[in-house]
Amino acid sequence: MLLRHTTAQEVERKALTINPSKTCQPVGAMYAALGLHGCLPHSHGSQGCCSYHRSALTRHFKEPVMAATSSFSEGSSVFGGSSNLVAAIETIFTVYEPDVIAVHTTCLSETIGDDLTQIVSKAHEDGKVPEGKKVIFCNTPSYVGTHITGYSSQVSSFVKFFSAATPKKRNVVNLVAGWMEPSDMREIKRIARVMEARTILFPDMSGVLDAPLTGKFEMYPKGGVSLSDMAATGDSKFSIGLGAYSTEDACVKLENKCKVKFEVVEIPIGLKATDRFITSLSRHANVPVPDELTEERGRLVDLIADNSKYFYGKRVALFGDPDTLIPLTEFLLTLDMKPAYIVTGTPGKHFDESMQALLAEQAPEARYKSGERADMFQLHQWIKQEPVDLLIGNTYGKYIARDENIPFVRLGFPIVDRPGHNFFPHTGYVGATNLAIKILDKVLDHTDRTCAEEKVELQM
Ligand code: SF4
Repeated sequence: MLLRHTTAQEVERKALTINPSKTCQPVGAMYAALGLHGCLPHSHGSQGCCSYHRSALTRHFKEPVMAATSSFSEGSSVFGGSSNLVAAIETIFTVYEPDVIAVHTTCLSETIGDDLTQIVSKAHEDGKVPEGKKVIFCNTPSYVGTHITGYSSQVSSFVKFFSAATPKKRNVVNLVAGWMEPSDMREIKRIARVMEARTILFPDMSGVLDAPLTGKFEMYPKGGVSLSDMAATGDSKFSIGLGAYSTEDACVKLENKCKVKFEVVEIPIGLKATDRFITSLSRHANVPVPDELTEERGRLVDLIADNSKYFYGKRVALFGDPDTLIPLTEFLLTLDMKPAYIVTGTPGKHFDESMQALLAEQAPEARYKSGERADMFQLHQWIKQEPVDLLIGNTYGKYIARDENIPFVRLGFPIVDRPGHNFFPHTGYVGATNLAIKILDKVLDHTDRTCAEEKVELQM
């Protein structure tokens, strides 16, 4: 019993979060910055923050994550980190030669009140930013929001600093990627390619955090959206944001700055969310849906139909990020499973409204919660009150899964104890097929291990 102090009985908590279902803002800002080619993320704060953010990403992606820090000392913590950042900008461009430095703040620099606009202007005035190089920045105070908020702020900063409108509109659709795996981004680009739609995906971590082992270290792997493509997003005819929490701000900014209209859909996880994404891309890129995708969809539907008796009625608890949980809950309902408990540490009304709409008919008894008080301790308490047949979430769910003997599907961030998430997408029809098979495997393995001996079936 690893979580032996968790009780079924709930006590009202007003100022205590136990095992939060989130991490800190700069982790998201750093992740998004890696999706811009030739960009070095920079953490404006203490070394400890930067080490934590880097290690959080490295442990999940199993790749070295490069980032710099303003390395605050006692002096900078009291008097501000302006001189540290100006010195860092000079050193970084001289030693590490990125095209862009993406600065994000931390709790400490936000509390001091460091003004990044003024500090970066000073770096320009002092000649610390070489010709053709860029320093961009965003505010990521981690005492509010989560890694998703930080991710969203960084993606918006790409638009703020790079997107530019020229008089010539291009027949291109921007795909603004919400927080997902590089393998998911690769799959979304494949779908767009198969549809022959002209798109720009940003940010794009494929080829950066899933780069092949070549025996040669590359400080800036060849993936990531290029600066020229990022600038050209201002000339695109439309934007599709994938996930409201991570991308809506960037879409709004792009519309205000460059008059690029947009639509936000869910990250295409599951059958219906993928249908909506493909329909939107087909409409806005003015391209038909090719047979190849229709066949992929058909194979997914076939899998669901063949195995419906194993999915039917299984109670599921899930936790993670709202942009993932919303389409995932919808997919579980498509599979005729019963989402029972859904928890996200990221605050926002959209999650609650989406859950209410999704669950009203098929699972009105489901419990869901969002925001900083929505934690895994409470999720565990709910599970103790009425058990579930499956748990879906990041690595931290393994303790609950072990204590309660529940099949566990790893999905989300971080996953630090298994490989696979960086190779097999969960987006698109292919991703939904992967996910449905993963769920089946876990549920059926559990049945094989725990059912009465006379009930063990060779063939399911
Ligand atoms: S101090 Fe703030 S920014 Fe730094 S690691 Fe902690 S929560 Fe994140």
